Amino acid sequence: MKIAVDGPAGAGKSTIARLVARHLGLRYVDTGAMYRAVTLAALRQGVDMSDEDALLRVATSMDLNIVFQGEKGNVIYLDGEDVTALIREPDVTAHVSTVSTHKKVRDFIVALQDQIGKQGSVVMDGRDIGTVVMPDADWKIFLQATVEERAKRRQREMERRGVQVDMGDMQEQIRKRDYLDSTRENSPLKKAVDAIEIDTTSLDVAEVVQKVLDLVQGEA
Ligand code: C5P
Repeated sequence: MKIAVDGPAGAGKSTIARLVARHLGLRYVDTGAMYRAVTLAALRQGVDMSDEDALLRVATSMDLNIVFQGEKGNVIYLDGEDVTALIREPDVTAHVSTVSTHKKVRDFIVALQDQIGKQGSVVMDGRDIGTVVMPDADWKIFLQATVEERAKRRQREMERRGVQVDMGDMQEQIRKRDYLDSTRENSPLKKAVDAIEIDTTSLDVAEVVQKVLDLVQGEA
């Protein structure tokens, strides 16, 4: 079974997709982590974020290894180094939507995702999974939530990691990322016509997971 989970930043995609995959015994792939890994490598090499060819060279020359670790989600290795936490740092988050606008970078990353999809049952989360990466998915879920709620979730997540953030700044960052992700020319963030939308604003994680499980197990 192939399940695509799309939606804007902070809508709960990775948490939900990981838990649904665990319940169903499927692989889970966090596609945002792939764009984040390219962004981290580009920042380290001092590459200009508007230089598409240079970014493609970074993507094609890096050794990216995604290890599926059930409960823990995906562990991401960049050239042999575990960068799972580093790719969530604010500097990477601030640049990733610029990196992901470049067509050559997307084509390269989407081809990798396509290979993973072809290996069988999977839950993949991202922005363009239902529209571009797995248009043949059995289920397409589009998670939505208000900007205020998404910013609150991100703030809590950062605080758990010991980072204090301003709520206004967080909302601004999310709005900016939403804008870049949904207005870019190449495979923008968009709900697939056959996707089922779930508004998670007033639902907790367990409720959203249950909704998705009910759907895919035919009980909704
Ligand atoms: O999901 P996450 O917030 O980690 O994604 C980081 C960024 O990667 C997104 O803001 C978006 O710019 C990009 N992305 C994308 N297509 C995907 C997944 C992520 O463009 N399938």
